Amino acid sequence: MKPSSEAHTSSYYASTAKGLETFPALDGDANADVCIIGGGYTGLSAALHLAERGRSVILIEANRLGWGASGRNGGQLHSGQRRDQSTLESWFGKSDAHRLFDLGEEAKSLVKNLIKKHSILCDWQDGLIHATHKERYLAEVKQEIALLRDEYDVGDITELSRDEIAARLGTDVYFGGWREQSAGHLHPLNYALGLARAAKCAGAVLYEGTRALTIADGQKQKVVTATGTVTADTVILACNGYLHGLNAETEARVMPLHNFILATEPLGARAERLIPGREAAADSRFVVYYWRLSADNRLLFGGGESYGRRFPDDIKNFVRQHMLKIYPDLADVKIDYGWGGTLAVTLKRLPYMRRLRSGLYTSGGYSGQGVGTATFAGKLLAEAIAGEQERFDVFSRLPAPPFPGGPLLRYPSMVLAMTWYALRDRL
Ligand SMILES: Cc1cc2nc3c(=O)[nH]c(=O)nc-3n(C[C@H](O)[C@H](O)[C@H](O)COP(=O)(O)OP(=O)(O)OC[C@H]3O[C@@H](n4cnc5c(N)ncnc54)[C@H](O)[C@@H]3O)c2cc1C
Repeated sequence: MKPSSEAHTSSYYASTAKGLETFPALDGDANADVCIIGGGYTGLSAALHLAERGRSVILIEANRLGWGASGRNGGQLHSGQRRDQSTLESWFGKSDAHRLFDLGEEAKSLVKNLIKKHSILCDWQDGLIHATHKERYLAEVKQEIALLRDEYDVGDITELSRDEIAARLGTDVYFGGWREQSAGHLHPLNYALGLARAAKCAGAVLYEGTRALTIADGQKQKVVTATGTVTADTVILACNGYLHGLNAETEARVMPLHNFILATEPLGARAERLIPGREAAADSRFVVYYWRLSADNRLLFGGGESYGRRFPDDIKNFVRQHMLKIYPDLADVKIDYGWGGTLAVTLKRLPYMRRLRSGLYTSGGYSGQGVGTATFAGKLLAEAIAGEQERFDVFSRLPAPPFPGGPLLRYPSMVLAMTWYALRDRL
């Protein structure tokens, strides 16, 4: 039986993909040291780093490499972890919070180094602005900036006043914020495709259109697909928001969410007036708005979430309503693309990385900060499988409580919670 697999979603990214190569489906029975399930940043980075360590690697992807969140996201590379340092300090104490921050910084550097090392053409652009949408949040923002400067030696942060942020983002709806030079943005699908090429060159064997159906645990792990099997010492689950029944323990802790992006028509000289420094921007809403200019001067704007099974029917219009809250002057601009993707969050918004049993690892739940964290997770998985557990264990020790309600009730509970936070954003 030929497995059913899906083409890339029709997005601005798929239309501007560079060197989109087709990989075959698995055909027959194969063996490897490590079998990776899922061809996004987690899986591709793990494949690259394991192959560089001399392991034989087979990666199977149900659809196309980069088909999931890794080929559809906002392309923003953030610093640190998804939670700010004051929160991490209050949860884990100063020493562990520092460790997590340093690892987050290493994740950011890793992405930039991989782009350079493998000559990945993905429009990397320095600079990211955090915009504060409530005046009452400014005091917290100032405290966080002071903490980062004084205790974390972060030297590349500039605080922005209300006027300065208006000049940098071409909108007067924000009360202030800050800019970081070392964070930035990239073309996410081209970055994923570049990682795939690097993994292949390092010796990893990559398959597309090959969905893992079950994983049998024995002396070795056996991954069963519709067209063959992979027998391996170790299996990595790298499916993030698309896991769908493959591992109950992960799914109890990692919740899929849909998020949406539009791309306007090219804005020409108008683009320079919107974001003269070409930074990425993200705001302080709970359901965050994030945006940036593409290399060809479109505005790529992300906002709005949904929690059920389906995407909205008219994604362009769904996101446009959010965009017009920030840029009402763009009402005359044509929207060329609108698409959605599925990410995964955890209750604490910290990544979920675990060795589930001997020979089975899982990693996901990056909670909207996967460009850096998923790439880094791939490297940490390779370290752990090679017996260097220490850095992987910094993450595997993080708390990851299951979502209340179990598989059936967690969606309604989540919708209730999210609606409350979204309402709080508007008050
Ligand atoms: C709209 C959107 C915007 C985002 N914006 C940002 C951002 O600006 N910055 C940021 O840092 N993060 C962002 N994220 C999050 C980020 O994209 C993800 O955290 C990251 O891409 C996760 O990578 P991954 O490899 O773990 O998962 P994915 O890229 O989702 O890959 C998982 C893959 O597993 C495959 N798969 C699933 N089940 C099977 C199976 N049984 N067999 C074989 N293959 C299988 C899927 O087909 C999929 O390709 C965003 C996400 C979305 C959806």
